[in-house]
Amino acid sequence: MIMKPFEESSMTQGLRALARRLMPSHPLYPKILKEVLQAEAGDHGEQFIMRQLEKLSYPLDLKVLHNVAIQKPVPMQLDVVIITSSEVIIVESKNIRGHIQLKMKPRQMIRVLDNGERSIFNHPEIQLEEYVYNLSDFFNRHQVKMNVEGIIIFPFNNASIEYEDGQFPVLVLRELSNYLRQRSSKNPLVDSRKIIQLLLHHHQPFMPFPLCDYYKIDPKYIKQGVICPNCQFDKMRREKFKWLCPQCQHQDVNAHLQALHDYSLLISKQITNQQAQRFLCLPNRHHVKRMLQSTCFRKNGVTSNTVYQILK
Ligand SMILES: [Zn+2]
Repeated sequence: MIMKPFEESSMTQGLRALARRLMPSHPLYPKILKEVLQAEAGDHGEQFIMRQLEKLSYPLDLKVLHNVAIQKPVPMQLDVVIITSSEVIIVESKNIRGHIQLKMKPRQMIRVLDNGERSIFNHPEIQLEEYVYNLSDFFNRHQVKMNVEGIIIFPFNNASIEYEDGQFPVLVLRELSNYLRQRSSKNPLVDSRKIIQLLLHHHQPFMPFPLCDYYKIDPKYIKQGVICPNCQFDKMRREKFKWLCPQCQHQDVNAHLQALHDYSLLISKQITNQQAQRFLCLPNRHHVKRMLQSTCFRKNGVTSNTVYQILK
């Protein structure tokens, strides 16, 4: 049973907002574009693994949670957690293409692309080892005796993998069902309900917002304006209760909601009427007031200095 379904990570949403609004002249721009692609690939891989686990969860009596983040005593961000009848398995998903070598001495992951480009990454086992240790410790602290295992999964057939035996199994997704079938055949030992409650109770998502603070980007490098959802042109105009794109003629009643959401992810969750006028490029405080008062926003404070909390 899926106990915590797949959800796109909020960091992916934040990075996407940053990529569409950061001025290309900013030195971090190329790095941010790369990070968006990596974050999207990571989410895509985890979603694919979750779909597979959904099919397996009933016949193998598995409980599955996507993206469990525990901050104390040591922060850990677990891509996928599987609870079998006898243990807890942490899945580290690696959606990476190319020719991959997992080397043990020293532990490195080396990737060579078809064009010969070679990159060296941390071996996923190093992080997984930490997570397995920390999750075991977490269970111990909560008086739960639990065996914690780890597996590394390459979700897609876009990598040719060469590896030296290490501490954790390295699987392609198709091998997962057989692997879990073998693990599940032991005597049932696990009070899965208690474990799920414990994990969900301590789940605290990683929230690095606003991203301008996180990446130390001066907000003056963030493009203002309402972005057209059709062609990405960044200066939609407000005309007769609608946003109109001068480039593709697309019309949208609510395009400002995405802009305000971008503002909350990148600059601040709080906004005043004046700041909103500037960010939406809409110098009409009555129009902006109506927008800020609409259902999405909660008002804090009084009169002309009202600060609005952007909810989404
Ligand atoms: Zn447009």
